[in-house]
Formats: sequence, C-alpha cells, structure tokens
Amino acid sequence: MESSGRSHKVAVVGGGISGLSAAYFLSRYLEGSEFSLELFEARPRLGGVIETVTRDGCLMEGGPDSIFTAKDDALNLIRDLGLQSKIVETDTERRRSLIATRGELHPLPPGFVMLAPSEILPFASTELLSTRGKLRTLMDLFIGPRFYGDEESVSRFIERRFGREILEKIVQPMVGGIYVGDVDKLSAECTIPQFVELERTNGSVIAGLMGRRSKSLSGNGVSGARYGMFVSLEGGIGALVHALVDSIRSSEAALHTDSPVEAIGRTDAGWTLSVKGQLQKEFDSILLCLPSHDLVELTGELDSDLTEALAEIPCASSIVVNLLYDRNQSDYDFDAFGFVVPATEDTSIIAGSFSSVKYKGRCPEDKLMLRAFLGGVLDEEIMSCSDEEIFARSHRDLARFLNIKGEPVSAWLRRWTHSMPQYQLGHKERVRRIFSSLQHFPGLYLAGNSYSGVGIPDCIASARTSAGKMVAYLKAR
Ligand SMILES: Cc1cc2nc3c(=O)[nH]c(=O)nc-3n(C[C@H](O)[C@H](O)[C@H](O)COP(=O)(O)OP(=O)(O)OC[C@H]3O[C@@H](n4cnc5c(N)ncnc54)[C@H](O)[C@@H]3O)c2cc1C
Repeated sequence: MESSGRSHKVAVVGGGISGLSAAYFLSRYLEGSEFSLELFEARPRLGGVIETVTRDGCLMEGGPDSIFTAKDDALNLIRDLGLQSKIVETDTERRRSLIATRGELHPLPPGFVMLAPSEILPFASTELLSTRGKLRTLMDLFIGPRFYGDEESVSRFIERRFGREILEKIVQPMVGGIYVGDVDKLSAECTIPQFVELERTNGSVIAGLMGRRSKSLSGNGVSGARYGMFVSLEGGIGALVHALVDSIRSSEAALHTDSPVEAIGRTDAGWTLSVKGQLQKEFDSILLCLPSHDLVELTGELDSDLTEALAEIPCASSIVVNLLYDRNQSDYDFDAFGFVVPATEDTSIIAGSFSSVKYKGRCPEDKLMLRAFLGGVLDEEIMSCSDEEIFARSHRDLARFLNIKGEPVSAWLRRWTHSMPQYQLGHKERVRRIFSSLQHFPGLYLAGNSYSGVGIPDCIASARTSAGKMVAYLKAR
C-alpha cells in the first residue's frame, strides 16, 4: 500500500497478537514513507495471552497452543515472516477428542464436527448418548429450518435442532470450552455461525455436514473443536510473537513494555496518549488492540455510547495449568489430543489437553506433559484460589480420568483475567454500535478479539483490516 509524502506519527496500544500484527502491518504499509510507530504494552513482556516457556526440558504453553489452519490469516502471516518451515503438525494417528461422562473418557464418534455428526453409522454406535438422545439428534434431518424469530443462544439452537441430551453431554463442553462461556448466553450466530448457516442453506445441519464432509468445515474428518486442523510452530506459538517483534524492530518502530496507557485524548491535530510514567504523547492516529474489558477504562471520557457498548461485552477469566509427569506414572493409552468436561460432571477442570501427545517432541520421551483448563464464566470463584489449590485440583481431576499415580514432577500455571470476550446474545448489534460510534472519531481504530472472532487468525485479520484503514486515513489527510 502506498502512502503520501507527509510524515506520520502512529501508535498501537496493546502488545498481544492483535497489537503486534497491527504494528507489523502498519510498518509494512507505511514502508517508503516517513513515519514513526510506537507500541505500548502494559505488561513487562509482549505476546498478551500467548506465552511459551521452556521449563524442565519441556516446551510449555501458558495460553494458546494451536493455530486453526482453515482461516488464512495466521498462515499467511507465518509465511510472510519466513516461518513456514517451522510449522509443526499435530500427530495424525491420534487426532481424536474425548468427552468426560460419569467420570470416564469416551471418544467423540468419527466424523463428529464440534456439535453434530457428519456420519450416521459411527454416531449410532457412540456410548456418549442414550438411544433416545441419538434419535433426537438425528431428528435434525427432518426438522425444517427457522428463517425468522429472535436471535438464538447456542443452547436454544442446539435444543431446537438436536435436543437437550447432546447439548448437555457434548455441545456445552465443546462450545463452552472454546469461549469459556455459558451456552445459554452465547449467541449462536456469533459463536457457531457455520452451523447456523448450514441450517439456512441445507434445511438440516447434519445433511449440510454430510454434504460438506470432505471440505474444510469437517476438518478433514477430524472430530472435535480444539483438535481439528490445527498447527503450531517449532518453539511453540511464542515463536510467532518473537518473529513479529524482530520484524517490527527492524522497521525501527519502538516497542514499549511496562507502559500502560492510562488515558486517550483528542486534539485538533489528532490524538494523545497518557502513558504511565511518561509525558503525554501526540499521534496522528492510534489503533487500540485491547480486549473490551481493558478498553472500557480508556474510552470512558471519549464517548459514552462507545464505552457503553464495549462494557456490554463481558470478558471471562481462565487458568491454564501445565503438569509434567513421568510417562510410567500412568497406564492410560493417551490415544487422543485431550478431552472436555461437561458442567454436569463433578470436577474443577473444564478440559484437559495431552500436550506432548498432540505435538511430538515437546518434552523428553519418558515424560508426559498435560494441560488443564479451569475457570470461565461458570466457575469465576476459582480465580481467587491460591496456586497450590489450583495445582492440587488440576492434578486430582487429571489423575482420576487418566489413572495417574503419584504427584506431578513439575507444574506451572498462568491466569488470564478478563481475557476472553463473550459473544453473548446481542453481540452483533453491540459491535455495530461500537464501529458506528467510531466513525465520529477519525484516526481512532480498534482491533482484537472482542468483535468478530477470538482465534489467533481472527485477531490477525482484524489487525490487518484496521491497519489498512488507518493507512488509508493517513494518506487522505
Ligand atoms: C487460555 C487461552 C487459550 C487459547 N487457545 C487458543 C488457541 O489454541 N488457538 C487460538 O487461535 N486462540 C486461542 N485463544 C484465543 C486467542 O489466543 C486470543 O483471543 C488472542 O491471543 C488475543 O489476542 P489480543 O492481542 O487480541 O489480546 P491479548 O492477548 O489479551 O493482548 C492484549 C494486550 O493488551 C495489554 N493491555 C491491556 N490494557 C492495556 C493498557 N491500558 N495499555 C497498554 N497495554 C494494555 C495487555 O497487557 C495484553 O498484553 C486462547 C485464549 C486463551 C485465554
């Protein structure tokens, strides 16, 4: 993208994947013109919820561990950064997900796509549902589509098409697990849009899935939400952060850590940022890449409509625990990537991931690395528990499901407070209000996981779009 001859002074707030991608795209789009670019991150490190560490000879992920490949944006960025040869794939032999039911783990039937079957025979023989539950699910093939009516929650959509049993036993932990959210409140259109669309276009979700089984929605026949077409990088997801940081630094942009932005202001010429411990700084344009929860505090003085709509997007908190065991502490076969746990089960963890099975080489052969997920909107109290309590509960639940003897040899956890925006009923309208309020503020842009997708590719796409808009604005000034 070309730019005018004028010098541009721009800022990005937030150093997670959205902010770093935005800074990367801006530095590329502004290449050839005179510009200064500064990024401000509140924490002492960059990456936001992406945090990869090496401990006890193992690569541990404190946040996301996989990149969804069916959406292009992350893979394109990986290619642009020269990281393509570093992509690591999941172990094809064990591409399965499990569901906890009555204290035991059972596989999702082959061909099951997050919330519905795309193959009838394997579904008919699953032990996860009763005969009645299976028959009710298959009624989807005969129930006509719904074109009108109020916006539906995930649970209303699922109950209407497939019945209550599959909602409680499979969909709640699968969809609720991704968003660490409440399926009674999450908007079906905003969180499972591909399935809502299948109903509209095919009359039945299952018929639609069967028709598209070989295509991307089914993840090449892979079952499960988290364990489908996913990849990581040698060095973990943190390698993407490092490559972005190196590239941004080579454009001579300034990346400031330990620099929380405390206020944004408007001047005749542009925008100001008040950064803790620094003089107020002036910019032509600013791009805010923060989850809605953090944004609310910054936009308060600016515009009440904008702030009100942002405040209506709640952000859930969660905890990721990495636990390392000796391989011989369990006789479980670990023939899958992990499992999710319905809210009806009596556990603290909401999911478990077999990290060293999913991505080979993450720890020595004689070790087993597992991750446990806790928290979310259905268990906010867990956030106030001590680390010791969280380690103990995670180990207790994993040990019960996976027949683990003895204590973990190492453990590490990360808490992500108010980090996962909830796309609840009315989300689409809220996002419309936010972006229409923004039109009154030329030079101010937003990107991140609060609007139209929480996954890493969605965040990168949102950063790219907003960076493009900012450069077009600068050019037109
Ligand atoms: C536990 C967990 C697991 C996940 N797993 C996956 C996965 O496997 N695959 C996937 O695709 N997605 C996954 N996601 C979702 C995805 O990782 C996130 O949506 C995405 O990384 C968010 O990036 P972001 O930059 O928008 O926000 P964040 O990563 O939250 O970054 C925002 C940054 O802004 C900073 N900040 C806040 N306030 C201020 C301020 N006032 N001034 C300056 N800086 C400020 C914060 O410190 C933070 O660093 C996961 C999310 C979580 C929490």
